[in-house]
Amino acid sequence: MNWNYKQPVEIHFGTGILFGMKELTAKAGYSRGLLVTSPSFVKRGIVDRLSAFCEGRICAVFDGVMPNPDVVQVDACAALARNEKCDFIIALGGGSVLDCAKVVSVLALCEKSASDFVGKTVGIPLEHLPLIAVPTTAGTGSEVTSVAVISDHARGVKVPLAADSFFPAMAIVDPELTYSASPYLTACCGVDALCHAIEAYWSRHHQPVCDALAVKAVKMLLANIEDAVYTDYNKTARNNMSEASLIAGLAFAIPKTSSAHACSYPLTNLLGIPHGEACGLTIDHWIRFNYSHGDRRIIELAEALGFSSPDELADRIGEIKKYTGLRTTLADMKLSDAKLQELIEGCKHPNMLNNPVKVEDSDIAALMTALAHG
Ligand SMILES: [Zn+2]
Repeated sequence: MNWNYKQPVEIHFGTGILFGMKELTAKAGYSRGLLVTSPSFVKRGIVDRLSAFCEGRICAVFDGVMPNPDVVQVDACAALARNEKCDFIIALGGGSVLDCAKVVSVLALCEKSASDFVGKTVGIPLEHLPLIAVPTTAGTGSEVTSVAVISDHARGVKVPLAADSFFPAMAIVDPELTYSASPYLTACCGVDALCHAIEAYWSRHHQPVCDALAVKAVKMLLANIEDAVYTDYNKTARNNMSEASLIAGLAFAIPKTSSAHACSYPLTNLLGIPHGEACGLTIDHWIRFNYSHGDRRIIELAEALGFSSPDELADRIGEIKKYTGLRTTLADMKLSDAKLQELIEGCKHPNMLNNPVKVEDSDIAALMTALAHG
């Protein structure tokens, strides 16, 4: 089997390392930074702290990134980067902020709109501003991938875009930034990371380096998620979740995600379910589905994790969802037939082709109908 591995992101991990931003930005020769973030980090004083650490190197702040960033918002942020003649970007936030900043890093150097990239698999320019990604949640993995998920609400779509120009120059992963996350957010992000690693392992584009990373990530996530969510903001568990989420990001950066992520996009778009919870809703189903359809990869993964069968792994994920309060059904939403049909159509997403066994349209319809009816 032939395979390639590439990981261009310089990674710094550790509690309290945000303090080192001055040295890192100075060493890189950056002078005019745009800080991209969301309103809560301004309110909590983290933007001021980060600006102080950068000692005058941040010349503008865009604090308007909302969950599931829209192309209009991305364009507004890019215009600020161009007007301020920025030479680097810092993204401080969760997946939405990081993904927005990745697209901005390209748009800052060209007169295009983010909507020009939606639906394109080629044609995203290579030239871009260097990006420093500072994740504040343990889940996205976006700090080490070339994928940016953005929405075009006018067209009713949420799509992952992939381009080499989206790789951050640096990832600064400081677990302290996750300590204040609520139990619900911690659970959503942790389950998202679990899906990244599991889907990467069985992806049709799997390869041995990412396999090893995926196994390590799933082990750490399963061992720490409940403590991170509920044990009084347990710092050790949250440090481990941060590290595991970063490793899960490295695991799926090349193989990419598949079935659970394919279903997550319409679940978020049409029903407003947050990304991690949306991925988690179907992951245990896909584990059982792939196992019962003869996929060897899920058997190998379950064995590597110490489970006697993939069903046991699926059961364990079911327990985590129950324990952390993540949804396991859509019955409470009382979906109309038309909405259910729209949901089924939305799940026929290109990521589904990355599932190791073929998924028929009737399989998707059966799954979504079962979830809708409880
Ligand atoms: Zn995800």
